[in-house]
Amino acid sequence: MENFTMLQFFEWYYPEDGSLWNHYAAEAQRLKSLGFDAVWLPPAHKGMEGGSASGYDSYDLYDLGEFDQKGSVRTKYGTKDELIAAIKAGQQAGLQVYSDIVLNHMGGADEKEVVTVREVTPENRNEFVSEPREIEAYTRFTFPGRGGKYSQFIWDHQCFSGVDYNAATQETAIYSIQNEYGDGWQDVLDLENGNFDYLMLSDIDFRNPHVREELKRWGEWYYETVGMDGFRLDAIKHMDPQFFVEWLDHLRNKYNREFYTVGEYWAPYDLPAMHEYIEATGHRISLFDAPLQANFFRASKESSSFDLRAVFEDTLVQTHPGLAVTLVENHDTQPLQSLEQTVEHWFRPLAYALILLRESGYPCVFYTDLYGSKYADKGNDGELHDVTLEKLEGLEALLHIRKNMAYGQQTDYFKTQESIGWVRAGDEEHENSGCAVVLSIGGETARAMQLGEKHAGKTFVDYMGHFDHEIVIQEDGWAELPVKGGSVSVWALKV
Ligand code: CA
Repeated sequence: MENFTMLQFFEWYYPEDGSLWNHYAAEAQRLKSLGFDAVWLPPAHKGMEGGSASGYDSYDLYDLGEFDQKGSVRTKYGTKDELIAAIKAGQQAGLQVYSDIVLNHMGGADEKEVVTVREVTPENRNEFVSEPREIEAYTRFTFPGRGGKYSQFIWDHQCFSGVDYNAATQETAIYSIQNEYGDGWQDVLDLENGNFDYLMLSDIDFRNPHVREELKRWGEWYYETVGMDGFRLDAIKHMDPQFFVEWLDHLRNKYNREFYTVGEYWAPYDLPAMHEYIEATGHRISLFDAPLQANFFRASKESSSFDLRAVFEDTLVQTHPGLAVTLVENHDTQPLQSLEQTVEHWFRPLAYALILLRESGYPCVFYTDLYGSKYADKGNDGELHDVTLEKLEGLEALLHIRKNMAYGQQTDYFKTQESIGWVRAGDEEHENSGCAVVLSIGGETARAMQLGEKHAGKTFVDYMGHFDHEIVIQEDGWAELPVKGGSVSVWALKV
C-alpha cells in the first residue's frame, strides 16, 4: 500500500432516503482523484428498522435491499442492485470497498419462543440473580419475506446466548439463555460489566457450530454477490475473538484474497486490551486507533495546555503501526452520538495532518469532513440539539500532499509542548516529493528543520495557504518554517 487513504463514506445522520449507494457511485471518480483508495461503506443488509435502519441492528443478512421485509424493500442506503452497481463503479474508478459486517447480534425476530434463561445484573453479567426460568423471547428468525431464497437457515434460541426482553411479562432485563451449546455467556476479552458478550438485541452464540457454518456460507454468498475487497468488523469487543479468526481464514483461503480487515475494538482508554485482541487474533485484524482519537479529543479541548509532543503516546499507531487505522472521527463519536467524543473544529486540520502526513498508520477520513452535515437529535443530556458540521477546509490540500509529497524518511522535531514539526525527505519515485509539516496549538511561531541538501536553494511555499510569502531553503539544507497560531502549515517545493 502506498500512502493508501480510506474514507468512511457515511455518517450517522445521513438521510434515510435510500440514496447513499447512488451518491457513492456518482462520487467515485472524484473521490479517487482527491486521493482516496478505499471506502468503508455502512452495513448493507436489512436491519430491524427496515428502510430507516442503520444496519447495526441486523435482521436479515441475506436481504441487501431485495425483499419486502420490515416495511421496506430497500435499506436506508438503497437497493441491492444499486449497491452492486455502486461497488462496481467504485472499483472501476480504482477504489476498494470494505463492507461493514455486523454479526454480534440480530433483532426484529419473526416469532417468539419459550426459552429457559437466568437473569443477570446489568453491571455484572456473571452475577445470576434468578434461578433458571422460562420467558417468551423473540429469538426465532424465519424471514418470511425472503421465503428461503439463498439460505434455508432458521435462527432460533439455539443460536443466541442472550436477550433483553420477556414478551410474556413485557419486562426488560438482561437474560442469559440456556441452549444445547452453552449455559451462560461466551468468553470475550473485555471484562467490563464482568463479561461484555451481551451488547444488545439477540446476542449470537458462536458456540453453536451450525451458526458458524451458516455465517461462513453467508460470507461466501455476500462476496460472490457484491465483490467487496475487505471488511470492517462491528462490535468485536463483544464477540469470541476465535470466531473471526475462523471466518476470515475460511474466506481468505477459499478465495485466496487478502480481504483487508479492520475491526471496531473501541477501547480509547485501554490500549492493553487492544493488544490482547491483536494477539488473540494472530495479527489478522487491524484496529481503529481509538486511543489516538481520544488524544485528539483531549488536545482539542485542552488547547494550548496540551502537550503536543505526547500526542502519539499510548496509541496503537505507536505500538502496532502496521495494524493501526488512524481516525479523527466516526459515526459513533460525532456530536449527539452514543460515544460522542468530538474533536473540536479548530484542531481537526492538525489531527488530519497527524494521520495523513506521517509514515505510520492507515488513515480513515470521516464523511462529514468532506461533505459537512446538518441535523438535530437528542444528546446524551436528553435535550434536543441542532448541529451544523462544516466541511473541513484544508482537508483536500492535506489529501493532495499525502498522495504527492509525503514520502521518504521521516525526521521529527517534537521540540516544544505547543509546537511540533516533522520532515518527510521525499523519495526518487515521486517527483518533487518531500515536505515539512509545522503544527502550533499556541501562538504563531516557527520551527527550524533540516530539509536535506537536495533542497538547498530551492523555493518552498505553504500548501495549506496560510502564508503568501515564499521561503528559500538555506545552502546547508536548513530553513525556519513558520506556522500561525492553532494551525498547521505544510511547506513543500513550489512547482
Ligand atoms: Ca456477543
